[in-house]
Amino acid sequence: MSDARLPSSSCLEGLEPQLPPPGERAAGCALCQEGGGRVVFAHPLLRLVHAQEPGLEAFYRIVWTAHVREWSELPAPQQWLCMQAVAVVERAMREVIAPHKVNLASLGNVVPHLHWHIIARYEWDGHFPAPVWAPAHTAPQDVPPQRLQWLRERRAALEAAMCAGLQALLQGGAPPAA
Ligand SMILES: [Zn+2]
Repeated sequence: MSDARLPSSSCLEGLEPQLPPPGERAAGCALCQEGGGRVVFAHPLLRLVHAQEPGLEAFYRIVWTAHVREWSELPAPQQWLCMQAVAVVERAMREVIAPHKVNLASLGNVVPHLHWHIIARYEWDGHFPAPVWAPAHTAPQDVPPQRLQWLRERRAALEAAMCAGLQALLQGGAPPAA
């Protein structure tokens, strides 16, 4: 990035994730070793990745860079930043792809490294109205292809809105004074 205010974040194509320093990676933790999806935005504190789940075109994750097991382990200003980042992604979805509902989830039962799932849901998706982790009632190949195509055509605008929001958030860097 040439913008001097943004020395360490970017949203270029082909981004590499910013991972914890090797000495701070938890043994066996996938999110300490790799991005966890296609990296859309990278910053030293957090990244946004596209989950690339078949049939769920607008499934993203905010992954905290440091290996932290629970959100409440973060200092309060970082808790705030983490949730504001989730809000930025959700708001971009509402504005650009108008989902029926946005689902937020922080599970981490399989990979206990702090990350939030942000998933745009539609009444036509193969799991709706159940969570995306429930068995699909419609296989990905049977979801209406024109619906998926509509989302793919909006992906660039969606991710541009997400990146712009995350850059603005991380430039600010601290919660507003109470
Ligand atoms: Zn980890």
